[in-house]
Amino acid sequence: MFQANSLIRKANISIRARRPREQENWRYAVRRQQVTMDPRPSVERTLTFVYFRSFGCRFDRAGECTMCNYAAAERVDTGNIISSVREALREQNHYDALGISPFGNMFDVSEVPAEARDAIFDMAAETDANIFSCESRPETLSTALIEETVDRLRGKRLFVNLGLETANPWVQAHCVGKSLSTESYRAATATLREHGAYPVSNILLGAPFLTEEEAIESTVGTIRWALTNGSHLCVLFPSNVKGWTLQEWLWERNIYRVPSLWSLVETLRRLGPETTRSVALSWYSASPTDPHRLDQVSDPLRDAPTTCPQCRETVIRGLDAFNAGAGFGVVTRLTEIDCACKDEWAERIATQAATADSLDVRVLEAYDRIGTELLGTAWWDRQRGKVRSELDVSYSGSVVPL
Ligand code: SF4
Ligand SMILES: [Zn+2]
Repeated sequence: MFQANSLIRKANISIRARRPREQENWRYAVRRQQVTMDPRPSVERTLTFVYFRSFGCRFDRAGECTMCNYAAAERVDTGNIISSVREALREQNHYDALGISPFGNMFDVSEVPAEARDAIFDMAAETDANIFSCESRPETLSTALIEETVDRLRGKRLFVNLGLETANPWVQAHCVGKSLSTESYRAATATLREHGAYPVSNILLGAPFLTEEEAIESTVGTIRWALTNGSHLCVLFPSNVKGWTLQEWLWERNIYRVPSLWSLVETLRRLGPETTRSVALSWYSASPTDPHRLDQVSDPLRDAPTTCPQCRETVIRGLDAFNAGAGFGVVTRLTEIDCACKDEWAERIATQAATADSLDVRVLEAYDRIGTELLGTAWWDRQRGKVRSELDVSYSGSVVPL
């Protein structure tokens, strides 16, 4: 099996061990967004997404994913999951597109018991939504589950968001810290498509240890890769800093910096008009001044991509318009905005390109700090050679998918 890096797993487990349990009265959150869900030109949709309390993602508990924090509750039984979702659905009589998911994996029975999952699909089938969407790791999907889900939804289009993050295996293992392989991803998209469902890829901009230029290039390459390997649409997430993550630990020590929204605009520009037809955006307008985005206390937001106070509102408005279905013209207009913060961003990219060591050297340097300061010199002295040799495997010097 494709392995996440052992240092990242140990560091995440150590940080998450101190994470507070989510407050008892948090049962669900409802998020509404104007989005496109098909390649443009396509209709603007109102996506209502219900996130419900669950035990959390089992990959989070295993120490994966440097940027994530989605496992801070007790086991939630079938009855409680069903009543939370039922209550959330009473908030509206009409739905356009409806998403219902735990923060982790809808199809993982260790997080959502099969009985609860089936009841949720039945409740969704009763609504007037055209589209039903949920989130899953590719590994927890199976042909039988997909077939059964499509049947239960009685004609609604099934969208499954798969957290691909990156299609470069080295970056996935040693920067993101996720055990997902491109083979599992390909198998899942093929099975979903065979059954008339729509695979959507969640793709990260701003994995740790990458320079801003590497982050842009890696994301551009991954989106192109995902769209030629089965994805109906890609959802691009500029990374935030959440509490109780290894990313937060790195950010507190100036080893991590969130990508600028100018990097997000630049990613769209490089993708161009044809590819961006199949790209949507998410979590680009979060702000640490509103740290509890979904009313949870165990998941505080510490930092988020932005520009500067002078141009932020204009940039966010442009990105909102893009997300709601506007054509590439809005991306071109965003690239034409002049602002001092954009010049600083361009200068930072040029300086990093001129001065940064190669990625494997930077990663090992950062690991040395994590190893000694977070995990302890005794452990790191024993493990450094092994982790160092893991970094050598398949390092091509490139951050784009092979
Ligand atoms: S990114 Fe996805 S797989 Fe990784 S810990 Fe978070 S919810 Fe789990
Ligand atoms: Zn600005």
